[in-house]
Amino acid sequence: MAEFELIDLIRTRCAVTREDVRLGIGDDAALLAVPAGQALAVSTDTLVSGIHFPKSTLPSDIGWKSLAVNLSDLAAMGAAPAWATLALTLPQADREWVAAFADGFAALAREFDLALVGGDTTQGPLSITVTVHGFVPEALALRRDGAKPGDGVFVTGTLGDAAAGLRLLESPSAIGKGKEHFVARLHRPTPRLAQGLLLRGRAHACIDVSDGLVADLGHVGKASGVGAEIDLTLLPGSPALREAFAAAARAPLQLAGGDDYELCFTAPATVADALLGELARSGCAATRIGRIVAAPGVRVCDVHGRLHEPPRAGWQHFSP
Ligand code: ADP
Ligand code: MG
Repeated sequence: MAEFELIDLIRTRCAVTREDVRLGIGDDAALLAVPAGQALAVSTDTLVSGIHFPKSTLPSDIGWKSLAVNLSDLAAMGAAPAWATLALTLPQADREWVAAFADGFAALAREFDLALVGGDTTQGPLSITVTVHGFVPEALALRRDGAKPGDGVFVTGTLGDAAAGLRLLESPSAIGKGKEHFVARLHRPTPRLAQGLLLRGRAHACIDVSDGLVADLGHVGKASGVGAEIDLTLLPGSPALREAFAAAARAPLQLAGGDDYELCFTAPATVADALLGELARSGCAATRIGRIVAAPGVRVCDVHGRLHEPPRAGWQHFSP
C-alpha cells in the first residue's frame, strides 16, 4: 500500500464535515476560517513508540490517545476544539494498522466535532504528531500565569489510575483487581473539554495533568510567581485505586504518576462553590486539594499535617 492510499484511508475513516473548513485534506494546505472575536489556540504533542506508549499498545488506542493528549491541552486553555493535523511516521504501510489507528482517532474526533484537515505521512520508526486548533475568546483563555495567593487548588476527576495502568503493564502480577479499568484510563484518557469551557474566565490558572500533579502544579506556580500547598488526604482517587492500593502506595501514583489528563486549576473562594456545582453537573466533578501561597514551590502535607517528601518530579525527556 502506497502513501496516497494510506492518506485516503485516513481521510475516509476520519471524515467530519465542518462549515469553517473551506478546504481540507488534498491540497498543499488547508484553508480554515477562524470565527470573528476568537483567538486561535494551537497545540502539538508527539507520541513516540516505546516512550509515550508501550510497543504492545493497540493501534486503535494509539489513535485515540494521540488525539486525546492534544485535546487535553485545548481543554486546559478553555478552548473549544475545531481542527487537527496528523503527522504519521510508520515503519511500514500496514493497512490494517492504519485503519485501526484511524478508527480510534475518529471515535474521539467525532465526539467533539473535530475535523482532520491535513498532515504528513512518512516512513520511519513509529511516531505520531498531532496538532490541534481550537477557539477561545482571548480574554477568557485559561493561562498558567494567573494563580494568586489565597486561591484554592482544584483537580477534576481522579488521579493515579493511568500510573496504575502503566505499572500493571510493566508487571502484570502487581495488581489483582481492576486491571481493565486502569489500563483503559492509561490508553483512553478523556479530555476534559466541557470542564475547560466552564472554567473560562473564572479559574485564575489552569494546566492539564500530563507529567504528574506536583510537576504540573509546579509549572503553574513558576509561571504565576507563587507556590502551592497540597493536602495528601484530599487527593481524589477512583474506587478501583482505593481498593487496589493502600494510602502509602497511592501517594506516588497520584502525585507523580503522569497521563491522567485531568485539569488542575486555581480559583478564588468567591467563585469556587458555584463552579464546583456546575462541574459536578457537567459529568466530571472537581475536588479542592490545596491552596496557593506566596512562597514558591509545591509542598505536600500528609494526614498528620507533616511535610510529605514528594516522589521524583514528573517525567522529563533528556533528564539524566
Ligand atoms: P505535500 O506533498 O503537498 O506536502 P502530501 O503529499 O504530503 O502533500 O499530502 C497530500 C495531502 O494529504 C495534503 O493535503 C496533506 O495535508 C494530507 N495528508 C498527508 N498525510 C496525512 C495524514 N497522515 N493525515 C491527514 N492528512 C494527511
Ligand atoms: Mg507533505
